[in-house]
Amino acid sequence: MDAHAHGPGPEIPTGFEPPRSGRWRNTGRDKTTHYQLVSSLRKPCGFCIRRHGRILNKPWPLPFHPNCQCDQLAILPDWDAPMVYRTPSEIFREMGPDAQVNLVGADNLRIIRAGLVRLSDVIGTPESGWLLLGFTESVRRRKLTVPQLLSAGVDRATADRAVSMADRLPKQE
Ligand SMILES: [Zn+2]
Repeated sequence: MDAHAHGPGPEIPTGFEPPRSGRWRNTGRDKTTHYQLVSSLRKPCGFCIRRHGRILNKPWPLPFHPNCQCDQLAILPDWDAPMVYRTPSEIFREMGPDAQVNLVGADNLRIIRAGLVRLSDVIGTPESGWLLLGFTESVRRRKLTVPQLLSAGVDRATADRAVSMADRLPKQE
């Protein structure tokens, strides 16, 4: 488990997801500056990336955690949001291979490429938003076996560890 596996507390707001049709406009009826969260897409934690592109009607309480690389962009009344909200798979597809490895991890990418898990299972869907499952959680949800992992190119020690950890993980949906 990585250091970011457990995010900050639930008191941190999630904001709202702007429509995907274009840049959200702050029509400013209440003259409130809004803030769009920009998560680092380089090794982000699940907590932060779930908020990527979302908008809050006050400043996000950054940083969310030690070493948090999130930023925020102000949207003044009558301004458009700087970023169009895009789904996890849209963002993922536009990344280079190195960035994809940074985001989901090399072993997750191996089992995605081998067809053992779907990309949407690991990173989420337009409906779920970002999930960013860890490798062991991917293994657990699909009940993958050591031979399957080996065939995808995962090394033996990692495969053994992931399968035995997956057996012990509490069920969390
Ligand atoms: Zn962050």
